[in-house]
Amino acid sequence: MMIAQVVVDISTSSLDKPFDYLVPVNMEREMAVGLTVLVPFSKKNRLGMVVGLYRAEGVNMKLLEISDIVDHDPIFDDRMVELCSLISRRYIAPLSDCLRLAYPPGRKIKLIKRVELAEDADHSILTDLEREAFLLLAKAVYEGGRIENLLDSLDEGVLTVLKKRGFLKVVQVLVKPKSPVKMVELVDISISVEEARILSKELERSSPKQERILSILSKKGRLATKILLDEAKTSRSTLSALSKKGLINMTKVIRRPDLDLTFPEEVITHDSLTEEQSTAIASVKNSLAAGTFAVKLLYGVTASGKTEIYLRATEEALRRGKSVIILVPEISLTPQIAHRFQTRFKGEVAILHSALSDAERFDQWEMIKNGNHRIVLGARSALFAPLKDVGLIIVDEEHEPAYKQNSTPRYHGVWVAEQRAQLSGALLILGSATPSIESRFRAEKGEFELLRLTKRVLDHPLPKVEIVDLRNTGEDNRGIILSLELIDAARAALEEDKKVILFLNRRGYFGFILCKSCGYVFKCKNCEVSMVYHQKNRLLMCHHCGFRTRPKDTCPDCGGSRMGFYSFGTERVEEEIKRFFAGVEIVRMDRDTTRSRGAHRDRLIKFKESKGAILLGTQMIAKGLDFPDVALVGVINADTSLHLPDFRSEERTFQLLMQISGRAGRSDLASKVIIQTFSPDSFAIRAIKESDYEGFYKRELGVRREMNYPPFTEIVNIIFSSKCETSVIDAAKIFSDNLNVAKKDGLKFELLGPVPAPISKIGGMHRWHSMVKTSELEMVLPRLKGDYIRLNSQAAFVDVKITVDVDSVWML
Ligand code: ADP
Ligand code: ZN
Repeated sequence: MMIAQVVVDISTSSLDKPFDYLVPVNMEREMAVGLTVLVPFSKKNRLGMVVGLYRAEGVNMKLLEISDIVDHDPIFDDRMVELCSLISRRYIAPLSDCLRLAYPPGRKIKLIKRVELAEDADHSILTDLEREAFLLLAKAVYEGGRIENLLDSLDEGVLTVLKKRGFLKVVQVLVKPKSPVKMVELVDISISVEEARILSKELERSSPKQERILSILSKKGRLATKILLDEAKTSRSTLSALSKKGLINMTKVIRRPDLDLTFPEEVITHDSLTEEQSTAIASVKNSLAAGTFAVKLLYGVTASGKTEIYLRATEEALRRGKSVIILVPEISLTPQIAHRFQTRFKGEVAILHSALSDAERFDQWEMIKNGNHRIVLGARSALFAPLKDVGLIIVDEEHEPAYKQNSTPRYHGVWVAEQRAQLSGALLILGSATPSIESRFRAEKGEFELLRLTKRVLDHPLPKVEIVDLRNTGEDNRGIILSLELIDAARAALEEDKKVILFLNRRGYFGFILCKSCGYVFKCKNCEVSMVYHQKNRLLMCHHCGFRTRPKDTCPDCGGSRMGFYSFGTERVEEEIKRFFAGVEIVRMDRDTTRSRGAHRDRLIKFKESKGAILLGTQMIAKGLDFPDVALVGVINADTSLHLPDFRSEERTFQLLMQISGRAGRSDLASKVIIQTFSPDSFAIRAIKESDYEGFYKRELGVRREMNYPPFTEIVNIIFSSKCETSVIDAAKIFSDNLNVAKKDGLKFELLGPVPAPISKIGGMHRWHSMVKTSELEMVLPRLKGDYIRLNSQAAFVDVKITVDVDSVWML
């Protein structure tokens, strides 16, 4: 007997395991992993996904049979099921939700309730109430409105009577989505130009319409029907006539998305590699030849030519008949890398861009599944592309928090990349100029092979980094936005028609109190985390452990009395820039100016093509830009990110500043980076000045070891949110108390909190959180899951949303 393991499509954590169903003999041949089926489940029909098949001797009489196959095209294979199961386990998410990651958009078949009404029923036997209900339903059905809500709102008793008397029947029906792919009809001429010319002459008199079609087609070649008919001012019947005579061909093809990802830049194949590049690529080739799972950490300073390594590694994998996944944090921010891959591998690259419409995404998905593309470039969702024989996965900027998904399943892309590579026996390359502390540590332990590119290509010098100490500005705060040093340097660059990038960190919405004389910021003595100032109760608070203290009016460090806030918005900065640089082209890039599709790319092109311009932007301009004529990069303030209430704030600041500095010095041109800060002595800033990643890593690792943070422990952030603050606090406390009991059972973990989250309110929802630190995550996970499900199903907490965030990248 063939048994299918089916995941029923109900998204609750308690129904998370596959159920066994008997496969009817007539379905055995077709049955496969990845099919969508209809199964009986607690007296109803439900949709399910087949995740496994096995044969068993003898029949278990209790097994129910699969009712039907509703989608005959398998969506995923065994390996994808395995990958999704791993994700489901680690990130405590229902398996059905994880499998959804592998679905193309718009492929979801739905099972809905529909009401059928007896049309010529005699109303007279009904009571007023029953008739009223019936007419209400009839009206909704007649108007094609949605009936489910109405059914829910009507009285059960009345509905039962109506059903019993045959007035209405509730049936379940399958709704299959229409393929979102659009077709377009094309018309082509099927005779030679010469023949067409002769024919045209003959037709001129007898059928001028046919003549017009022929002459347009011989001039322009293949055209879409609609365009052709518009131009020839005629109708379909003319086409039919021509087609009957065999003079034209009409075909329907899928309309390919017209997604322009080109960038005005010539892509050069570099014939000679630098010595370091050669060593790195040799190692990559060896691993690809071995064809077994391995991880390499490509740690190369900015502009050391990492992209060239990616391109060559990809080439080699293709040559060996393998396919390739390349992850980038966000494609729209880095149009250059997409352009480089598309130019180098014409037609082989599928791009999974966040700005694609469903139809476009679906089309790309199908093309990948059918083997038309062997390279997939995209954000983290590209990890679930239906590629066969994956031999290489590349994660560019592997340290980026953007690889973490912040809705369920809350997976970390780098972790998933590693799992997929392992399942496929593929090589994983993690690339970065500033590897995450975790990855660098694994390389130190020998789990990853370290490939280093220490020099920029063509011996381009690293830019000179200058730190401007904002503590020395005057009492009136003049020069705090743009220091004299920054203004002078920008003027000098612009005078030579060179470009300037000014970077403004906007993740600075936490109130921290700073000593404007010495730069001192209050930190929690337990957690090494900046404390957040709460104006309401005038207290400083640690949002990791909850420690509170009252800020002093004088600085504990220097005794000065200039303690206070420091903050300003983008508009202020833009105003200030305009004031000093009248007449200079200013390209602003932030969330407001880049809403529309292609806006990022258009702005970057504008910046690229103008002379002597200023690019002012937030995080979104930090990555991947490669413009040779940038002579100055200025960081308006380094402090906001430095003092985020998160144990990774120094790491993030260092990475961000390295990345943004890396936009300068990408040619022979002398270039400069100016960083304004109140904390020139902080470790991150000192390390930036020397471009000293290794020094930063060593020191940060020491802190992590001492304070027990990753990589020495794993962390789970548990967030509670609700409109009602007391419910949030109650839920958070009960959860923590329950969890703490588990220590008696021998589980090893540390629990911080519950405390208000740094972002203590979003959209009217109050937020609290707890942090679990453990070196035995595997053992703690089942307990967390159990507690989570239990609390979630408690009536008292229906309005509290509980989020268990494993491997969280922000503690905000
Ligand atoms: P990264 O990704 O390390 O920041 P890129 O791959 O963008 O660096 O390379 C920086 C620049 O150097 C690019 O313009 C690239 O075309 C060029 N480049 C890369 N490798 C070589 C090489 N071997 N010889 C000359 N130029 C190179
Ligand atoms: Zn603390």
